[in-house]
Amino acid sequence: MRRFLVLAAAAATLACSLTVRADDTLVIYSERREPLFVPILDAWTEQTGVKVQLLTDQAQVLTERILAEGERGRADVMVTVDAGNLWHATERGALAPIQSPTLAAIVPEDFRDPDGRWYAVTQRARVIVHSTDRVQPGELSTYEDLADEKWRGRLCLRTSKKVYNQSLVAVLIDRHGEQEAERIVRGWVANLAAPPTTDDNAVINAIAAGQCDVGIVNTYYYGRIVNRQGEIPVAIFYPNQGDGEGGVHVNVTGAGIAAHSKQPELAQRFIEWMLSEPTQRLFADIDFEFPVNPDVAPNPAVAAWGTFRPDDRNISSAGRLQAAAVRLMDRAGYR
Ligand code: FE
Repeated sequence: MRRFLVLAAAAATLACSLTVRADDTLVIYSERREPLFVPILDAWTEQTGVKVQLLTDQAQVLTERILAEGERGRADVMVTVDAGNLWHATERGALAPIQSPTLAAIVPEDFRDPDGRWYAVTQRARVIVHSTDRVQPGELSTYEDLADEKWRGRLCLRTSKKVYNQSLVAVLIDRHGEQEAERIVRGWVANLAAPPTTDDNAVINAIAAGQCDVGIVNTYYYGRIVNRQGEIPVAIFYPNQGDGEGGVHVNVTGAGIAAHSKQPELAQRFIEWMLSEPTQRLFADIDFEFPVNPDVAPNPAVAAWGTFRPDDRNISSAGRLQAAAVRLMDRAGYR
């Protein structure tokens, strides 16, 4: 799992970090799938001449590594999926605050840490997907409604071990309180057509294959499958669009400066560059995610799915309530 990928010409090694000149190489710790991130880093190196070393691992491992390495550490930037992971990194003290008028102007308030320790670079929506053969959009409404017994034996969900579902349930707790959130999750479990899957692709494929009728996934998984296979008998439904229903659950990939970076100006420049219009377009086209920069339109394939009202609360609540969400899903028998 742990890989150290040296991009561009191999520069200094970890062992002789003292010989690394500032502005020579930017060291990035990342939990983001490498095939989706490397083209972005290649563009950065091409445009700026600054090389990149990329260490990919799970966010919590990277957070602890930044702390354990302390002043000896070489990490400049941390990039990770999920607001809960970003919240955890700030709680542990792994990220340094950034004062950037550029970032403050581009990144909406809901998509950054109130103290400037991380900024979203892409946003992703976690939505309902349904069979176009067996479910009419008019039968669907909210995440909460998937607990209704009309969906008995018809629901597919990814495992509760995935942080995406932990964040979604954290939002349900924030919105409804623990008791009601637990009732909803118990309803989901009662409605499962099959044991929870290991990833979002399996949920979409199971619906296409007729094993279940509805599920919850991040939109870009759907975008990838359609891009690869062409049309499938599965469609996206944007839930919770009615008054008082809260909106679609949106999560992010975000970036911050590692607490002990020796070149925070360069790290900040990199994060600002990721939010610039050309780079945001690159992100949008590589993986069917939604740009964070409001001046950049989504990829046409994504725009074709229509528009939606996102959840109105700051996504940091996902982090704050994630531990409670994990306990709740365990009690409810969601594996
Ligand atoms: Fe993902």
